[in-house]
Amino acid sequence: MRHAALFVVVLLVLVGGMFVLGPQGTAAQNTVLQAQGELQWYRGNMHTHSYWSDGDNFLEMIAHWYEQNDYDFLVFTDHNVLADRERWVDVAKIKQGEKAFLKLKEAFPDWVEQREVDDRTEVRLRTFSEVSERFNKPGEYLLIQGEEITDHYHRHPVHMNAHNVQELITPRGGESVREVMQNNVDAVLAQRERTGQPMIIHLNHPNFGYAVTAEDLMHIVGEKFFEVYNGHPGVHNSGDELHASTERIWDIVLTKRLAELDLPVMYGLATDDGHSYHNIPSRASEPGRGWVMVLSDQLQPGSLIDALEAGRFYASSGVTLSRVDSSPKGLSLEVAAVEGETYTIEFIGTRKGYNPEGTPIKNPANPELPVTQKYDESIGALLKTVQGTAASYEFTGDEIYVRARVTSSAKHPNPSEVGEPQRAWVQPVVGPGTN
Ligand SMILES: [Zn+2]
Ligand SMILES: [Zn+2]
Repeated sequence: MRHAALFVVVLLVLVGGMFVLGPQGTAAQNTVLQAQGELQWYRGNMHTHSYWSDGDNFLEMIAHWYEQNDYDFLVFTDHNVLADRERWVDVAKIKQGEKAFLKLKEAFPDWVEQREVDDRTEVRLRTFSEVSERFNKPGEYLLIQGEEITDHYHRHPVHMNAHNVQELITPRGGESVREVMQNNVDAVLAQRERTGQPMIIHLNHPNFGYAVTAEDLMHIVGEKFFEVYNGHPGVHNSGDELHASTERIWDIVLTKRLAELDLPVMYGLATDDGHSYHNIPSRASEPGRGWVMVLSDQLQPGSLIDALEAGRFYASSGVTLSRVDSSPKGLSLEVAAVEGETYTIEFIGTRKGYNPEGTPIKNPANPELPVTQKYDESIGALLKTVQGTAASYEFTGDEIYVRARVTSSAKHPNPSEVGEPQRAWVQPVVGPGTN
């Protein structure tokens, strides 16, 4: 029985993998991303911490913050835990406890459960179902259950967020960074298959501890998303002299997956990874820094996940788009311009005939830790730049993929990295150069 059950699980993983892979190299279809009729843009954050792990606030206070700040959906992603059981915490022992407890009582006077144990005050953490029942409003606001599967390979952190998980996923581990990622992706796909619930997983902050290289990430089967922007100030979105930025990693991964590995595109997400909610703005990891705009026909986990998997979304740290068109002819976009701001629109991609060779890089401080290789400018080349609020790129015939980045003249009001501008990242479109 044991072996039979194991066999079934393995088979499901394989079937799940094939399903997720889909046909390769299909030319881009005509896709217009624009709000009309049932299709609406929904703004969401897919990376959030609370008292259930290392955040400094209650779920309901965080849900309240995002609702007040014009978000439509929010995924709670505490480390290796679901908010699904009775749990009491000592107010004096939790981060910012006295302050947070006072604010909680003020905001929800009828709803706080507290008790005195010896001389200590304890408060019960509300579960995900209690909080979502209170906050969810059809078509207006949606809370989704998630988990940051917090894994590692030796001292290298490998963190992945699972969305709409139904049961806790314990970190799967593995014999390399790559295997750790693949094992956790497979665990989510297996749960999705078994429960029949829509579910996705994304790789978080690849440059946190510089743990995940492009060469690791490019091989992961069933991995469709990674964080091109994470709001935590300690995750090095821009890399450094030695390490590739997350955007550079994206271009290397896209090129290799599409042109060499026969794997699908990977989409880029922007998220908050908020832990600190009491002193905004500051240099702590705070909410409101990065989000996704998803064009969906319903504000439901299934519809949002369908849209995300189809690439019907963009990532933002401040720039709003009104329209994105992709087709076998090319990619175009329009910015919902803000008065007083100007915009730089860059089309980035790789053409057939690019130089596939990477040069290995050693980290002198830690030779054990792999570093993303250096590739020349033919990978992730800047294909066209436009100053303005609308731009289009027409395929010339040899593009493997093209993506776009919009940069505002306005600085981010509370950035991940000091001085960074507000941006939007348009998802890559597979070009005619992918066979
Ligand atoms: Zn993390
Ligand atoms: Zn996190």
